[in-house]
Amino acid sequence: MFRIGKEEAEAAARVMESKMLFRINDGLKEVEHFEEEWAETIGTKYSICVSGGTAALIAALVGLEIGPGDEVIVPGYTFMATATAVLAAGAIPVIAEIDDSLTLDPADVEKKINKNTKAIIPVHICGFPANMDKIMELARKYNLKVVEDACQADGGSYNGKRLGSIGDAGAFSFNHFKIISAGEGGAFVTDSRRVYERALVYHDGGSQFRPYANGLEIQPFMGAQYRISEILGAILRVQLQRLDGILTDLRKVKKTIMQALSDVKNLTFIRSNDIVGDCGTVLAFAFADEKTARTFAASQGVNGSLPIDSGKHVFTNWGPVMNKLGGHNNDVNPYLMEKNKELNMNYAKDMCPKTLDTLSRTVFISLDPDWNEEKINQVISSCREAAGRI
Ligand SMILES: *Cc1c(COP(=O)(O)O)cnc(C)c1O
Repeated sequence: MFRIGKEEAEAAARVMESKMLFRINDGLKEVEHFEEEWAETIGTKYSICVSGGTAALIAALVGLEIGPGDEVIVPGYTFMATATAVLAAGAIPVIAEIDDSLTLDPADVEKKINKNTKAIIPVHICGFPANMDKIMELARKYNLKVVEDACQADGGSYNGKRLGSIGDAGAFSFNHFKIISAGEGGAFVTDSRRVYERALVYHDGGSQFRPYANGLEIQPFMGAQYRISEILGAILRVQLQRLDGILTDLRKVKKTIMQALSDVKNLTFIRSNDIVGDCGTVLAFAFADEKTARTFAASQGVNGSLPIDSGKHVFTNWGPVMNKLGGHNNDVNPYLMEKNKELNMNYAKDMCPKTLDTLSRTVFISLDPDWNEEKINQVISSCREAAGRI
């Protein structure tokens, strides 16, 4: 979350005054309005507001009828929830390499596709757009579904299309650490009526009893409870109004710094699949080796970090996946299910060497849309000085 103010407080207060905090009501219908506004912003037919990005990913996979017997390819660099959402659907996550854009490597994805592969989850990590042209090409070639994990890329775009609208479904997060936020929250989007209805039923376990049940073309089945309250819905509507301003300012900060450093010969920026659509939350440099990256990151005023140190975003640290503890009970653990017996679940710490090597030679600097000229100039001069010393 970058910006929040009295408008959010007032929106939340209006909901409390209405005394209707449940999303299904005859009052303000904040969540319902947010869903319409989010679908319109992203450019999809349908959107469902859910309790988080993980819930959105699970709803997307359930919506796309992915389950036991299916392999789903995810990158080795993402938040663990990308992989555990696959397990929650009963399927098996297959971990693939990232390329020099820090997003899913289409060449490695193609190597990992086999007869059991059902879907690919490209992740727009740190707001860096994944190579969607190549991924969609693979999906068409092998008849696979694509779920975009845009949890760190609310509002970003690729070739002029908003991230999340290119694949069969998209997932967004509005937890505290994302571009816009209500503390918690998420959204699912799709253009498919059937996928939408399945996700709708799944996110609202009591769907059978809802006013909308009569209009469903599918038969309601058991679901989870991923609904969100009106208070969060009201906050998200205000946050959405701030989204494009936040992105414009983040991109301006990033562009200013990149232009100012473009002539520094020791500095190379991470390759972008679409620098215009990039969210601008993170400035990323590629170095020849880890030692140089560490020296640069630790230099006075740079305030850099290495993604290899981020822990939860590196596949080697995903305990439940690496240890194959995919459920609370053996009988619901996808790794032990009969239907998954033949699937690829051979995980090892060294299975994606390119990912580990790339992440240990990369330096991130987190950006802020509200940095002033003085702060931006300080970052630029600190990076210049640090580059001179490596
Ligand atoms: C934050 C995040 C999620 C999960 O979002 P929650 O709202 O915390 O459930 C999933 N994938 C990625 C890449 C994320 O960064």
